[in-house]
Amino acid sequence: MSGGQRSLEGKVGLITGSTSGIGLATAQVLAEQGCNLILHGLLPEDEGQSLAADFAAQYGIRTFFSNADLRQPESIHRFMAQGTEALGSIDILINNAGIQHTDSVADFPLEKWNDIIAINLSSAFHTIQQAVPVMAQKRWGRIINIASVHGLVASVNKAAYCAAKHGIVGLTKVVAIECAEQGITVNAICPGWVDTPLINKQIEAVANSKGLDYHEARYQLVTAKQPLPEMLDPRQIGEFALFLCSDAARGITGASLAMDGGWTAQ
Ligand code: NAP
Repeated sequence: MSGGQRSLEGKVGLITGSTSGIGLATAQVLAEQGCNLILHGLLPEDEGQSLAADFAAQYGIRTFFSNADLRQPESIHRFMAQGTEALGSIDILINNAGIQHTDSVADFPLEKWNDIIAINLSSAFHTIQQAVPVMAQKRWGRIINIASVHGLVASVNKAAYCAAKHGIVGLTKVVAIECAEQGITVNAICPGWVDTPLINKQIEAVANSKGLDYHEARYQLVTAKQPLPEMLDPRQIGEFALFLCSDAARGITGASLAMDGGWTAQ
């Protein structure tokens, strides 16, 4: 715990998919600033409760955990209601949970399409719909959608992912203009490659198809499109989200902010 004034003391943040990768790192960054947290991911209940207890003890915050499956709207509604009741509010909503599947559009399995649209896009509609009235009452709120560089540009074999991420960029803009007079900002962060478990399968696919070792495959995957020849650290996304929660960022809304090592500058 830091010794000085913590910038999010007393606030409540909800981060979907905060048991891994970007979500977990963002939870740590917010917790360091005293933010009480509604943690969420598909962990078994006992492991999730233990993660929440560890956060509470380490950062001196209040926590709540849910393993609601985001493919089911009624589970989302239940977990949002329970989390808000347990911690008293939702001031910061970070729609982060996401999955990936790569295949050509002709071969794309319907089940994967439906899951990606449900988890990467529709779940944000459901969480936003429940969080906005709570934030509007306080006339303060921060909604941050973790989109992707694939919300701005396309890559082959990512039909569902690109459709969902472009969709979340559109959703971000609409909610931003609807909520602008209520003290709520709504933005999307669009990362390039970030070092998390989500991309392992893609690295393995490059390694297998080109006969490369894991590290060379990883390097080739990153540098194929991203000028910065390294993956981002998940914590860098968390620090960016923290900035968007600050008073200095109150004029930033409806923006889709690339954090992509120059990918979309080309
Ligand atoms: P990750 O490490 O795989 O984490 C994904 C999180 O989503 C996990 O907490 C996972 O829970 C949760 N989740 C997955 N399916 C779920 C479901 N049906 N219901 C509830 N929760 C579910 O991935 P990440 O890389 O941190 O990705 C986070 C976000 O960043 C995603 O939206 C992704 O598209 C975006 N992003 C990632 C990159 C990158 O290069 N990694 C780049 C741009 C954007 P469990 O782990 O408990 O199963």
